Amino acid sequence: MQCPFCSAEETKVIDSRLANDGDAVRRRRECLSCSERFTTYETAELVMPRIVKSDGSRVPFDEVKLTGGIMRSLEKRPVETEQIDAAISHIKQRLRATGDREVPSLMVGECVMEALRELDHVAYVRFASVYRSFEDIKEFREEIERLEREPSSESRRQQLSLLPTSSSDKITSIQSRKGKKDPAS
Ligand SMILES: [Zn+2]
Repeated sequence: MQCPFCSAEETKVIDSRLANDGDAVRRRRECLSCSERFTTYETAELVMPRIVKSDGSRVPFDEVKLTGGIMRSLEKRPVETEQIDAAISHIKQRLRATGDREVPSLMVGECVMEALRELDHVAYVRFASVYRSFEDIKEFREEIERLEREPSSESRRQQLSLLPTSSSDKITSIQSRKGKKDPAS
């Protein structure tokens, strides 16, 4: 393992412990040349199913993209990094547990939504407002109404006021439709 500070190749492990609910080994290392310390994570490389996008194209599972989407939703939210890591491992486990070599991208999105819903309601609404298309507005409105009924540590109004402008705009437009008759019913 090359030292990230001086690129020397000789480093020693000074501590080793399980991380991520046992999914990873966290190692504290020290460079033998410059004595700087750094941390590495070792995880088993398990084959993830490929992702089938809505247009039928197949792409490899992209953990960086998955993590990026989750982190964006959780920006400035009071959620611990360990909880986020555990949620990402859990999503990957669920996708692998299907036993399928390919899974629809929709399933990945649903897994993320479920994970965020457990972690933080604001992050969930942020993600859902980007992820769900405008055609699904009825379903999205129902989700928000369901969330409003769920117990939360903070008041719903306070949480919604923390939303980025774009999401608040959408929510406002959803709420303004509430009183109107749904043409579909
Ligand atoms: Zn070094």
